[in-house]
Amino acid sequence: MHKLARLDHAHVWHPFTQMRDWLQREPIVITAGEGAVLRDVRGREYLDANSSIWTNLHGHNHPTLNAALKRQLGKIAHSSALGFANEPASVLAAELVKLVNPKRSASSPRRLHKVFFSDDGSTAMEVALKLAYEFTRRARGPKAKTRFLSLAGAYHGDTVGAVSLGHIELFHKAYSGLLFKTDQVMSPYCYRCPFNKAKPERADAREYRKCNWECVGKVEAKCATACKRGNDYAAFVFEPLMQGAAGMIPQPDGWLKRVTDIARGHGALLVADEVMTGFGRTGTVFASHAEGVQPDFLALAKGLTGGYLPMAATLTTQRVFDAFLGEYAEFKTFFHGHSYTGNQLGAAVALASHDLLTGKASIAMRMRLEEDLRRELKSLWSLRNVGDVRQVGLVAGVELVRNWRTREPFAIGARAGIRVCEAMAQRGVLTRPIGNVVVLMPPYCTTAAQLRRMVGALYEAVEEVLGSAASARSNDRRASGSSKLVH
Ligand SMILES: *Cc1c(COP(=O)(O)O)cnc(C)c1O
Repeated sequence: MHKLARLDHAHVWHPFTQMRDWLQREPIVITAGEGAVLRDVRGREYLDANSSIWTNLHGHNHPTLNAALKRQLGKIAHSSALGFANEPASVLAAELVKLVNPKRSASSPRRLHKVFFSDDGSTAMEVALKLAYEFTRRARGPKAKTRFLSLAGAYHGDTVGAVSLGHIELFHKAYSGLLFKTDQVMSPYCYRCPFNKAKPERADAREYRKCNWECVGKVEAKCATACKRGNDYAAFVFEPLMQGAAGMIPQPDGWLKRVTDIARGHGALLVADEVMTGFGRTGTVFASHAEGVQPDFLALAKGLTGGYLPMAATLTTQRVFDAFLGEYAEFKTFFHGHSYTGNQLGAAVALASHDLLTGKASIAMRMRLEEDLRRELKSLWSLRNVGDVRQVGLVAGVELVRNWRTREPFAIGARAGIRVCEAMAQRGVLTRPIGNVVVLMPPYCTTAAQLRRMVGALYEAVEEVLGSAASARSNDRRASGSSKLVH
């Protein structure tokens, strides 16, 4: 075993990892990267098929980002935002405000005008949560109910407040005693819709039963019940367009607009968690924009720095900001902050990343990659153990099942997703499953040939691990698109 791997085994405790399994084999030790390629300590090369857990945008070791970082490093790495402003954080805040607001929103009260920096997705959500809570108490009185409504399967991070907003049994059950109570409501999952409207295995569209937006009705009912009891929700919290850690589950077109209108109609603030979907991942720069939804809070992290450094931002409105203004001794201050809030290196590389993101070359690259992904993914429908293939923009989730006809899932103990990803790693492609869903989220610089290798490795891995020979019945299935319903 390489000496770095030995050190890791001796001392490093890895996130979301059963360490007994980890200690049974030599880990891949990454030492370098370039573009979509990662290199390990033994000189082997891999494709980074999930953008290093959804963080990297433009590729590793990008000359423009490196240069920006070096430039900033030549001045200063960090000074505190407690008591001082700094150059890149001020410029970045202004840039973010420009990027997240529709062009003609200058005088709109919905305009996201203020930026609170923190370190990662979880803290960005903690900030949104605490601000929404305090804002609501000030607006409705200290005795007002301040319940939050979030979606089934939601994941908003691992700090205690963010976990309270989440609803993934597996991650959250152990800590239920620590958490505050939030309400959950059904989120769309067309492939496993209890109302059974989507039938992706059927080629014939007439086989679809008409969808009556039962999942929207659930949100309506939840808000109405809360309202009748006199305790409107303080906020409705959601991942727009696609729930990530729930298993890359897309929302049908129109769902987001409908449910956010309903929540708003019942007086709830909107908290959009775009930690995964932000910065072009779903096609538009922000997923909320795709349906014209303007939230009161917008949480950004993962791609904010192009995947270089841990930095996050929570954006909100002037109205929320103003509720925290007062005399010093009134203590209306927002009592929250982190040591590295507004870090200069992070802000400098984020600025360079935004330049790239909004440039013509990157936009063209993303459009091409989205098409490449759509084309390559089609091959997977022919595999017997592929139940669903879903794509939103540059993100794909491939759901492995025991039986595509019945959609019978693999038991979690069968580790189907993990075994498939291990077989992909042996073919030089790195990604990580969510249960039985294999995620593909290539960096924007991924070439057509690299993408073909990513999807090809997944195809072969499913065949090898699950014995899922392709079958003639591929013609039975919708050979394109995903189970996401189109109304
Ligand atoms: C990753 C993620 C988070 C948590 O972000 P961290 O940086 O890991 O704390 C929160 N929300 C969503 C939607 C995420 O994908």
